[in-house]
Amino acid sequence: MQVDLESGLLRGARQIASPNFDSRPAGVETDLIVVHGISLPPGEFGGPWIDRLFTNTLPPQQHPYFAEVAPLRVSSHLVLDRDGKVTQYVRFTDRAWHAGKSVYKQREACNDYSVGVELEGTDTLPYAAAQYGALAEVVAALCAAHPRLSARRLVGHSDIAPGRKTDPGPAFDWPRARRLIASACRRTRRR
Ligand SMILES: [Zn+2]
Repeated sequence: MQVDLESGLLRGARQIASPNFDSRPAGVETDLIVVHGISLPPGEFGGPWIDRLFTNTLPPQQHPYFAEVAPLRVSSHLVLDRDGKVTQYVRFTDRAWHAGKSVYKQREACNDYSVGVELEGTDTLPYAAAQYGALAEVVAALCAAHPRLSARRLVGHSDIAPGRKTDPGPAFDWPRARRLIASACRRTRRR
C-alpha cells in the first residue's frame, strides 16, 4: 500500500467520498494515528451501514440505533472491515470528523492533526487477524509518507477521549498490533 501525497489517497483502497470533512488548520502537520472500533448496528458486521453513516444516508427507521446516530455528521479517513478490506472516505490531506472532543498530550482537537482508522468490531469481540495485517500495512504506508508519523504515535480513541469513548476496547490487542506494525514499517523502509 502507498499513500499518494499530492491527492491524499491510499492507493489500492476502495474509495467512497464522505461529505463529512473540512480543511486541516493551516500549517498543522499530521502526526497521530487514532484507532477506533465501529459496528452498525452494534455487534453486527458486514452490512453497508458504515458506508451509509459516513455518507449521511443511514436509514433511521431500519434500526433503533440507526435513528440515534443517523443525524450525526461523522467520518473517518479509513475503515478496515472484518476481512481486512480497506475503504477510504476522506483524503489524508483533509480533516475527517472521527475523534470529537479529544486531547493528546495536552493538545486538543485531535482531528486537526490525526488520521482516523476505524476497525469494524466491538470493544469485547476479538478483532480479526486480517484487520491486524491491514492495519500494519496502512500504518507503514502512512509513516512512509508523513515523516512526523511513527508507529509510536498510534493511540486508541479511548486514550484521547477518556470517560467518553471506550473503543477500540479491551478486545484490541495492542502488543500484537505494534509487533506487526514494526515489521511492516521495516519492510516498507527497505523497499
Ligand atoms: Zn471511536
